[in-house]
Amino acid sequence: MRKLSAFLFLYLTFSCSESETSIPNEDTTEIYLLPVVVHVLHNGEDIGIGTNISDDRIKKQIELLNNDFRRKSGSRGFNNHPDGGDAKIEFVLATKDPLGNPTNGILRKQLVIDDLPNDIPAFEFEQYAHFSYWDSKDYINIWVAPYPEDLTNIVLGKATGPDSDLPGDSLFQKPLPGGAEGIIVNWAHFGETNLAGGRNLGRTLTHEMGHYLGLLHTWGDRNCETNDFCDDTPAVDTEVTNDQPHLGCANEDVMVANYMNLTSDAVMNIFTNDQITRMRYVLENSPRRASLLTSKGVKSI
Ligand SMILES: [Zn+2]
Repeated sequence: MRKLSAFLFLYLTFSCSESETSIPNEDTTEIYLLPVVVHVLHNGEDIGIGTNISDDRIKKQIELLNNDFRRKSGSRGFNNHPDGGDAKIEFVLATKDPLGNPTNGILRKQLVIDDLPNDIPAFEFEQYAHFSYWDSKDYINIWVAPYPEDLTNIVLGKATGPDSDLPGDSLFQKPLPGGAEGIIVNWAHFGETNLAGGRNLGRTLTHEMGHYLGLLHTWGDRNCETNDFCDDTPAVDTEVTNDQPHLGCANEDVMVANYMNLTSDAVMNIFTNDQITRMRYVLENSPRRASLLTSKGVKSI
């Protein structure tokens, strides 16, 4: 969760040339392409007005997300930190709906809370799924939520975590058994906007996607020993919300630019190699994550 108010390793070992002949290191890591569906839950405005955000803003958000996950050169997502990496994970708005029909991957529905049946669990993911949802086996569901203005810069986004055997699994917010899962982003923080407060460059979705793919906050459960189970993010036992350099558990600078902090969008720009390893492990092994790799949502592109 990204809320300001409170809150394996795949070793790519290259034999360091004991032989005289060197083979060029060619990175053959597979790029994983994941289909997303964006459900714009709005207050009844026309498209492009208020909570019913435009297609262009949504497409730009997906571009920003990809810049971050691919550490794209020339974008805000680029870094040259020695522990930073290209996750080789990309996101695409679905081109096929669950019935195999063409789609642009954007659905719009007016959110009328009074329309919720009494038997829907009082769990935001289930409630939003009642209005619009595609099977998470094949799609990453992203709801753009019409939170009221007084929650702007307070509630940014939320995500359910994967089922996995990774350490720290118990710290994820889990869906109800077999129930709806996905990512919720406050409409005010979705995409690139002029919003004041420092959360206006699309990094809320980057952060929540990190959770959805198995990342914890850099402070984990606030324990210096276990932390976020990534050795290359300096251990810290308190929430990282301060953009300025400051010290963590081992008296070394915390990585304020990490996407799994609550720092400002403008300072964020790094996933570390250990974080990337965790996300790729989840994509290769977790239920309703591994199935995304063969989804019919993008198979035809
Ligand atoms: Zn979070």
